[in-house]
Amino acid sequence: MAKQEDIFKKLVAHAKEYGFIFQSSEIYDGLGAVYDYAQKGVELKNNIKEYWWKSMVYMHENIVGIDSAIFMHPTVWKASGHVDAFNDPLIDNKDSKKRYRADVLIEEHREKYQQKIEKEVEKAAQRFGEKFDKEQFLATNARVLENQQKIDELTERYASAMQKGDLDELRQIILDYEITDPVSGTKNWTDVRQFNLMFDTKLGSVTDDAAKIYLRPETAQGIFVNYLNVQKTGRMKIPFGIAQIGKAFRNEIVARQFIFRMREFEQMEMQFFVKPGTEMEWFNAWREKRLRWHKALGMGDGNYRLHDHDKLAHYANAATDIEYNFPFGFKELEGIHSRTDFDLKQHQEFSGKKIQYFDNETNESYIPYVVETSIGLDRMFLSVLSHAYTEEEVVKEDGSGSETRVVLRIPAFLAPVKLAIFPLIKKDGLPEKAREIYHQLKYNFNCEYEEKDTIGRRYRRQDAAGTPYCITVDHQTLQDNTVTLRDRDTMLQERIAIEQLDKIVSGKVNIRTLLNKLEE
Ligand code: ATP
Repeated sequence: MAKQEDIFKKLVAHAKEYGFIFQSSEIYDGLGAVYDYAQKGVELKNNIKEYWWKSMVYMHENIVGIDSAIFMHPTVWKASGHVDAFNDPLIDNKDSKKRYRADVLIEEHREKYQQKIEKEVEKAAQRFGEKFDKEQFLATNARVLENQQKIDELTERYASAMQKGDLDELRQIILDYEITDPVSGTKNWTDVRQFNLMFDTKLGSVTDDAAKIYLRPETAQGIFVNYLNVQKTGRMKIPFGIAQIGKAFRNEIVARQFIFRMREFEQMEMQFFVKPGTEMEWFNAWREKRLRWHKALGMGDGNYRLHDHDKLAHYANAATDIEYNFPFGFKELEGIHSRTDFDLKQHQEFSGKKIQYFDNETNESYIPYVVETSIGLDRMFLSVLSHAYTEEEVVKEDGSGSETRVVLRIPAFLAPVKLAIFPLIKKDGLPEKAREIYHQLKYNFNCEYEEKDTIGRRYRRQDAAGTPYCITVDHQTLQDNTVTLRDRDTMLQERIAIEQLDKIVSGKVNIRTLLNKLEE
C-alpha cells in the first residue's frame, strides 16, 4: 500500500512538473480541492471530452447534445430534491478535529475486508499454481468466508441505515466496527449530522431583494428542464438521449485525493428517455456500453469493476458504479442510474407545465423514464494519468549502463501532444527542414518543435509528457526526404518517408480507430 501511495505522490508532483495540473491560486497557497488544468492538461481533457462526445452524440442517431447554463431557477433545486436531500452525513473526530463523511468511512472499512480476501486469493494462487481453483477457494476457505460474512453483515446494516437516513445507526456502525480516524487513530467520534453540499449565491445587484440561487451540483437538471424543448425542436422519438458536458459544484467536506474529489469539477452526463417499463433493459444496455467505452482505451480490463449500489439515491430504482483501480484502490469513476420518472414528474408538478410524451404509434401519453450515465471528467483524467504513469529501468541512450525512465503511457488517441519534431542538431539546415515538417503536420496533429539539449534528453522529456511519437530530422533527411519516427512505448525507431508521415501517424493516433472499436 505504502508503495502505491508513494506512486500517487509522485504522480501529483509529475502532473505539476510537466504542466498537466496546478493547484488553483497557487501563489496564494492554493484553494482547497480546486485545481487548474495547465497547458498539457487542457489538451488531455479536451481529448477525453472529444472521445465521450463523439461516442455519444455522433455515433448515435438518437442522441443530441446541449450546453445549458450553470445558474438555474432556484425552484429547479426544490423540485429535484437537492435543497432538502442533497446531504452528506458528517462525523467529526474529537482528537484530530478532522471531519469525515460517515458513509465514506464505512465503505472504506468494508473495502479492507475485501482486500483481505484478495490477499488470501493471491497467496493461494501462488501456493497452488496451475491447479488453483479460485471459485472453490472462495467458497470454502475459512478466512475468506469469515471476511465475506463481515462484508455481508456490514452491508446489510449500512444499506438499511442509509435508506432510512438513520444517523444514530450510522454512528453506531462506526463504533461497533471500531472504525478509527486515519489521522489520530482514535475512536473518539461526535454524532453524525447532515450537511447540504450546494454552494449558493445571490442573483441581482441589490442584496436585500436579490434571489438566492445555487451553483448547479450536477448537470442533469439542465437536461431535464430542456427535455420538452429538445424533444419538440429536434423532433425526437422515444427512446432518445440528451448529452451534456459542463461544470458542477459541490461543497465537499472530505476533499482529498487530488482531482478525485473537487469542489468545482466537470461532468459528462447523458440522460436517455425511455418508455416506462423498458428502463431495466436500457439500464443494462448502457451499463455494458459504458464499460466497453472504458475498456476500448486499453488501460487493462482488470482495472474496472461494476459495483451495484446498496444505498439508492432518492430518485433511483437501480444504480451501478463503474469503479476504476486508482492508486488508492477501486473507486467510483462513473455512475449509471435508472432515475425513473422522478425528475420530469417533479418538474411538471413544480412548474405547472405538462411534461409528457405522445407516442403516436400506440396513441398513449406518458412521462418518460430516464436512464442516466454520469461520468466525472476529472476522475476520468485521473484514471488515465494513473494508468499512464510508469517508471522503468532502461539502457541509457549512449549505452553506458541503465537509468530510470519515467514515461506516461497515455493512450495515443488521448495524448496531449501527438508528435514532437526535432532537428538532430541546430545547424546545417536541419532546423529549417524540421520546421517545414511541423507546419505541414500541424493541421492534423498537435505538434511540438524542440531543438534544445541532446536528442536523448528530448526523447525523455517527451516520454514524460506522454507524447506517443517523435520525429527526428537528420542529415540523411536532406538527401532522401526520410525521417526517423520513434515510438514512446517501445522506443523503437523506423525510417519513414516524409510524405508517408501524415498517413502513418493518423492510423496510430486518430480517434476514429478508437471509435471503431466500440462497434466491433
Ligand atoms: P461520490 O460517492 O464519490 O461522492 P457521487 O455518487 O456523489 O460520487 P454522482 O452524483 O453520481 O457522484 O456524480 C457522477 C460522477 O461525477 C461521479 O461518478 C464522479 O465521477 C463525478 N463526481 C462527483 N463528485 C465529484 C467531485 N467532487 N469531484 C470530481 N468528480 C466528482
